[in-house]
Amino acid sequence: MLRVVVLGAAAGGGVPQWNCGCPICQAARTEQPELQSTQASLAISADGGNWFLINASPDLRQQLIAAPQLHPSPGKLRHSPIAGVILTNGEIDAIAGLLSMREGSPFTIYAHAKVLATLKSNSIFNVLNEKIVRRQPIAIEQAFEPALADGSPSGIEILPFEVSGKGAWYLEGERHPAGQDDAGDTLGLRIRDKATDKFFYFLAACARVTDDLKSRLRGAPLVFFDGTVWRDDELIAAGLSNKTGQGMGHIAMSGETGAIAALEGLGIGRKVFLHINNSNPALLHDSEERRTAERAGWQIPADGTEIML
Ligand SMILES: [Zn+2]
Repeated sequence: MLRVVVLGAAAGGGVPQWNCGCPICQAARTEQPELQSTQASLAISADGGNWFLINASPDLRQQLIAAPQLHPSPGKLRHSPIAGVILTNGEIDAIAGLLSMREGSPFTIYAHAKVLATLKSNSIFNVLNEKIVRRQPIAIEQAFEPALADGSPSGIEILPFEVSGKGAWYLEGERHPAGQDDAGDTLGLRIRDKATDKFFYFLAACARVTDDLKSRLRGAPLVFFDGTVWRDDELIAAGLSNKTGQGMGHIAMSGETGAIAALEGLGIGRKVFLHINNSNPALLHDSEERRTAERAGWQIPADGTEIML
């Protein structure tokens, strides 16, 4: 059985964001604490005992405290059930949590060579001793099976694939440490339990749904998909930023080319938005946008939600 825990559902900054006074962040701080959400990450397991993280958000420490599945085994002085971390991009909200895993427990980081080059070029990540925390490159369209801490197979097959997106924000205008090749900045993942053949897709960032992507996702039992903004100019309209969703490499939920319309009619069993920005009105339980998303079969998860496949 494949177990999936939503450690966090929010985009960069979380809900509420430290410096944001927008209505949703204000409500999350005051009368609606249930709106609070940490930055996007999943934990997955095929055996219920050994787990892998999909991205390591800056909120990782808080997320691990809140997830009993990821606590050390009782009676062990030093232990973690986390055998590895799979990174899908090099953004702060996907990699900064690695710095909270620096206490000498062995695990493996799986990432595209481009993201590994980013880690290598930032000396702060040297705090993760490579003799203890291995760094293993993954490649587009090459399935791999992450290993458990003792080197045995995990029973999980992961297929990374290229998704329309963009490079990390902090590298804008700079030469990428891995060179200027565009590939590998944003990965989607197909995650399969080898014993049961159950699988799901993870796409926390996606700028555009192409025909190729539609045929890939058709009939999938479960898809986690980029839910950053409701509409493309949402941050501009709210006076929060001069960036569009597209400018940040994220498709909107709504609109003719938005995620809801693009993934309609593909026979996907369960559709879950992830990486939801605090400006997104679909976060509000009583909003028209929330009702529209739910009517179209989409779920907006609370942190800690567990799904079994
Ligand atoms: Zn806000």
